[in-house]
Amino acid sequence: MTVLRKSPSVVYWLGDKLYLNITNRCSNDCYFCLRRFKDGVRGFNLKLRGEPSSKEVVAELQKVIWRKRWKEVVFCGFGEPLMRLDCILEVTGWVKRFHEKVIRVDTNGHGCLLNEGRDVARELREARVDRVSVSLNAQDEGTYNRVCRPKFQGAFEKIFEFVEKAKEAGLEIEITVVRIPEVDVREVREIAKRREVEFRVREYLPCIW
Ligand code: SF4
Repeated sequence: MTVLRKSPSVVYWLGDKLYLNITNRCSNDCYFCLRRFKDGVRGFNLKLRGEPSSKEVVAELQKVIWRKRWKEVVFCGFGEPLMRLDCILEVTGWVKRFHEKVIRVDTNGHGCLLNEGRDVARELREARVDRVSVSLNAQDEGTYNRVCRPKFQGAFEKIFEFVEKAKEAGLEIEITVVRIPEVDVREVREIAKRREVEFRVREYLPCIW
């Protein structure tokens, strides 16, 4: 994949979706993470030189949000968006006020660990985030720790706390897995079924999902 744009992109797009790359920090270190091998996706450089303020994200959005009927605005880049909860809330507020787009947050599910003392799911819902997509990528804690190498102890179980809170708050929620050899897709599908949330498999391709 060739990266054509030399300056880092906060806003990028694939098909009919607009993506927001608001951080390169993450509380996981997944061995398959694209940022370990690539500088970006589909011609966009996603290696940030610094984190954009909410105002800077909005300024970048203003340049492109009118260009087509984007189906969704998705917080998803080379890092974990919930590292920057306030930025998500502020940018979502602006999008909903002026453009009424569907908003999705793609997350590793560490929202409660990263924002201790805050009711993350409720705050997202109150800001009018519509959907949350949680990358689980493992059927059990041992596999999770080997594959995703979380910085927090007990992260795997905490993901389910976030999932339950997101359900309670009224967010649409799905659990996803990347198709890699360590993941038992059938078992994770069962986990999602038991928790009564949607399930999606992301093919492990050198592209964004
Ligand atoms: S959770 Fe996502 S951004 Fe973080 S290391 Fe894993 S694949 Fe990369």
